Amino acid sequence: MNLMEKLTILADAAKYDVSCSSSGSTRQGPKGSLGSAARAGICHSFSADGRCISLLKILMTNNCIYDCAYCLNRRSNDKSRAAFTVDEIVQLTMDFYRRNYIEGLFLSSAIIGSPDYTMELLVQVVEKLRYEQNFHGYIHLKGIPGASPLLIQRAGLVADRLSVNMELPSEQSLNLLAPDKKKQSILLPMQQIRQGIVQHKQEQALFPKAPSFVPAGQTTQMIVGASGENDLQILRLSAALYQKFSMKRVYFSAYVPVNEDARLPQIAQPPMLRENRLYQADWLMRFYGFEASELLDETNPNFDPDYDPTVIWAVRHPEQFPKEINTASYQQLLRVPGIGVRSARRIVSARKTARLDFEDLLRMHVSLKRAQYFITCKGKYYNVQNPQPQMILQALKPQARSPYQQLTLFPDQPAAPQSPVEVLDKTTYFPKTASATANHSDLLPFF
Ligand code: SF4
Repeated sequence: MNLMEKLTILADAAKYDVSCSSSGSTRQGPKGSLGSAARAGICHSFSADGRCISLLKILMTNNCIYDCAYCLNRRSNDKSRAAFTVDEIVQLTMDFYRRNYIEGLFLSSAIIGSPDYTMELLVQVVEKLRYEQNFHGYIHLKGIPGASPLLIQRAGLVADRLSVNMELPSEQSLNLLAPDKKKQSILLPMQQIRQGIVQHKQEQALFPKAPSFVPAGQTTQMIVGASGENDLQILRLSAALYQKFSMKRVYFSAYVPVNEDARLPQIAQPPMLRENRLYQADWLMRFYGFEASELLDETNPNFDPDYDPTVIWAVRHPEQFPKEINTASYQQLLRVPGIGVRSARRIVSARKTARLDFEDLLRMHVSLKRAQYFITCKGKYYNVQNPQPQMILQALKPQARSPYQQLTLFPDQPAAPQSPVEVLDKTTYFPKTASATANHSDLLPFF
């Protein structure tokens, strides 16, 4: 197998990791032109300062000794297998970097031989890049569950970011669908990485030139919809991961059916909308000050597919609304559906010089489609009078047209149709799964 054949197989095998997204197209530049698009395995990620960077995203091998039910690379699947050598990955990375195809490397692997053997190979790649090739580009490396602490330590000294995948949202589901992986083999390296980052910060305060340790922090990923946990359980776990392990990011990956397996749900489509609602909730927890328990509870353990989580939270808390735009605090503005960080900042800044009305909000490009039901300007609603929860939900239902038209360059044009993704059959949100039909009162959560 030549290098390009390996690259084709191992870049394709890496696409289910959602930490960076695929470029999505392949295009050779015509003769005499400059550049081509999306060679195999080149994906995009975002750096801490918001820049979009391209990464070579590959598996070291798709030859796995484990047999996770949901995974295309599991040992029981009959499929093409390939493995890079350490030197091949180093060569590919340097060649692509020199040609300006990439700015970094995203390297993961199936488990070859043992967790330690796999991790040793991954670490060797990065050490060669750093110490022999003097490569200073961004490197995101997978931490292999069950790898020894010494190897995780070595990885932390050379990689920018480490991620150990949580995979599934409960120990019960892990035992069912990924029986070779154990809860502790996932949590221990996470704990070690967190401690290493904290320790490095302390050392750096004393010795500014102390070697860095995972400077871009750690992330994890869990599959949504392959097992029967509800959104509340997933959100609680996510909150605990941020809190206990100082995660930079918890990624959710909608379950994509690739295997026939009685333990897995029968679904026609990956639950993308559910993944989206969880990302919205994750965003609310990280940047808007919401707690998981405010967004969902035991009575309502799942997000409504029709509405974003702030709308549901707001209609369940009529005592908190309306908010007067001229007096509400910044934190209160952030909790108004439709008002984001940028709009809240603009409002707080603008009202220092004048009392605002709706025309001012329009000029500031504040979106009123949802906000109009929850705010007043100078004591008055914009287009509605004392909106009640049921009326708000009806007005904001995906198929319904808001009486309010968004600010547009072409006001006479009909409003754009609703995105088709928002109109869905609710039964597709929670497909029936083998474990979803079980009694989950005995679920063993991770924490
Ligand atoms: S460890 Fe599990 S999820 Fe990872 S490659 Fe192997 S079978 Fe797939």
